[in-house]
Amino acid sequence: MSELRFDQVSVRYGHRHTGLTAVDRVSLTVPSGQVVGLVGESGSGKSTLARTAVGLSPVSGGRVLLDGTDVRRQARRNRPVQMVLQDPSSSLDPRMTIGESIAEAMPRGAFLRRAARNVEVCRLLELVNLGSDRAGMLPGRLSGGQRQRVALSRALAGRPKVVIADEITSALDVSVQGAVLNLCRDLQRELRLSMLFVSHNLAVVRHMSDLIAVMYLGRIVEVGPTEAVVTDPRHPYTRDLVDAAPSRTGNLLADEVAATADVEPPDPHNPPTGCRYHPRCPIGPAMRSDRQICVTTDPIESAGERPHGAACHFAGSPALPDRARA
Ligand code: SF4
Repeated sequence: MSELRFDQVSVRYGHRHTGLTAVDRVSLTVPSGQVVGLVGESGSGKSTLARTAVGLSPVSGGRVLLDGTDVRRQARRNRPVQMVLQDPSSSLDPRMTIGESIAEAMPRGAFLRRAARNVEVCRLLELVNLGSDRAGMLPGRLSGGQRQRVALSRALAGRPKVVIADEITSALDVSVQGAVLNLCRDLQRELRLSMLFVSHNLAVVRHMSDLIAVMYLGRIVEVGPTEAVVTDPRHPYTRDLVDAAPSRTGNLLADEVAATADVEPPDPHNPPTGCRYHPRCPIGPAMRSDRQICVTTDPIESAGERPHGAACHFAGSPALPDRARA
């Protein structure tokens, strides 16, 4: 088991003055053998952050560490951090058979003999509940759910210590999403993997994760044990995500986490001063004129002093009775 740690990681794109900071000095730990769910709306930077762990996003500042060692120093082929993407087609070459795709992802120097490779391919296919007879097929002959299972087995072929799962059910029919999620969780437990599970769907993240980190406009605004965050959210953004998500007894998969308020998200090229959430916040200066500190002072600096590391000057304050905006 291994620990993945993002240490003050920033990702910037474009020119210094006109560019975009997609991830802004984010620190987050995925403890050994646990699942951290990273949730936030589209454009929050969650996928960008996750992709830094496998070199798919450029790290402009900070470090990504696996058991204390910078992941960028490790050989590309034998990287112990593997990623499963939203669209399985993007990780499977349509001209290669399933077996060839899986074999290609095996660690360099392992399974040199064809017979041993074939046995390993069959083992990996069975691990994701696919018959070994699929090995000779092309990806185009499989359903979306089956292709995602192949993508999972391809990730496992690299013998990872950490798996990054980025919106892995978003492109699938609702009817197969639950089966893929349960398979993913079973494999994580069985293989004792550490996992960063990225999704816009809080209900799915709750189902999968030991810990939840909530991301907004390039920053983590709350993090903690799943049930603590879901049942007692300290940041107003998290609270709105929880309110918008279906209950545990409701439909787990059909509903998407809604944006918190009927206000357009800010331009990430020009984030708001102070608290980045203040133009949308239901308990902030848009509703309470005496809360100008939210406009002038960034709460992220003192987040570590609050429960769940909540980046909010008024963390835990109750929602106002009338949340309608003026
Ligand atoms: Fe809302 Fe202010 Fe807290 Fe930001 S700091 S989340 S604007 S109350």
